[in-house]
Amino acid sequence: MSKPRILTGDTPTGRLHLGHWVGSVENRVKLQDSYDCYFIIANMHAFTTRMEDPAAIRQSVLDIVIDYLSAGIDPVKSTIFVQSEIPAIAELTFLFSMLLSFPRVMRNPTIKSEIRDKDLGDNYPFGFLLYPIGQVADILAFRPSLVPVGEDQVPHLEMAREVARRFNQLYCQVSPHTEDKDNIKAGGLFPVIEPLLSNTPRLVGIGGPNQDGNLLKMSKSLNNAIFLSDDADAVHKKVMAMYTDPNRLKKTDKGQVENNPLWIFHDTFNSDKAWVEEAKDKYRQGQIGDVECKKKLIEVLIALLKPMHQRRQALLKNPEQILEVLKQGTMKANEIAEVTLKHTKELIKQDYIKELRHISYSN
Ligand code: ATP
Ligand code: MG
Repeated sequence: MSKPRILTGDTPTGRLHLGHWVGSVENRVKLQDSYDCYFIIANMHAFTTRMEDPAAIRQSVLDIVIDYLSAGIDPVKSTIFVQSEIPAIAELTFLFSMLLSFPRVMRNPTIKSEIRDKDLGDNYPFGFLLYPIGQVADILAFRPSLVPVGEDQVPHLEMAREVARRFNQLYCQVSPHTEDKDNIKAGGLFPVIEPLLSNTPRLVGIGGPNQDGNLLKMSKSLNNAIFLSDDADAVHKKVMAMYTDPNRLKKTDKGQVENNPLWIFHDTFNSDKAWVEEAKDKYRQGQIGDVECKKKLIEVLIALLKPMHQRRQALLKNPEQILEVLKQGTMKANEIAEVTLKHTKELIKQDYIKELRHISYSN
């Protein structure tokens, strides 16, 4: 019996960071034995905010493959592929954009917060608004059972659920009264998928709050990330400079633990819970310095990243391997997406000339 399928991925707008690790990548590494995993590098979506710098997007695609492999994703078990070489995704995006209304897309809260937090003003391309629908196509092209993501992706997944229901009802005669979990059984093409959130679905960044006073999520684009590829020196510098309680100027000042990235990071990464609880109490009472708590955090983070660094060093000695992983993965992913597209075209009665659909990798 074939394993259930997972689809998830990343935009190549930079390297992977600790938020990716706790939000999604750690789960992927754990699940790759029991699921057939597909990890998409969504390079066309990087053009929504970086269209003027294709060389950086290209570099980031390769960096993310290296990040995946260093983090423990095994290309023998999991399929790593690049979005732009899967034509079915672009075709499905166009069709799916008919299945959601424009006001519905504009109500997506992640779109609103990205416009605010990435300072896009009213200067973003039309394609920026289209990218959540592109993401619906990334997902549904693979008809997965599970999509492990961070919290900011939940609104996009909700759109994928709406598109799946609507498609199944319009073109597969699935009754609107059918429960989400029964859509495939009832003859639908697309599953109505639940997101799989980790224990830390939203890790904050090291740089403090946004204009509304809320701590920003750690993000490649917001200059507030500790990267999986950061060396010990970089981790040290970043943690030492990280945002903590702005009202605490000296060790004897009472500190606030809530909404303080230093303690959010200890809670997330430090397995010595007894130390964390005791140090938090001392911090509240002004009996322990920021530096001591930061040094402890540095130790913890360096220990987490060390095996990733070792794998990275080995990979960098053999760079051809990176493109090969991407090539093999993309060819395999394309076959799956093509099957979905074939079914889709039949169901929407636009399957005229089947012979045209032939992809050759030989030249
Ligand atoms: P960008 O700033 O370009 O949007 P990003 O840092 O948000 O980049 P994405 O490629 O958009 O990264 O996200 C990839 C996956 O990682 C998604 O599932 C997302 O929810 C998850 N993720 C990203 N940042 C975090 C975070 N800080 N905490 C938890 N999960 C995260
Ligand atoms: Mg993002």
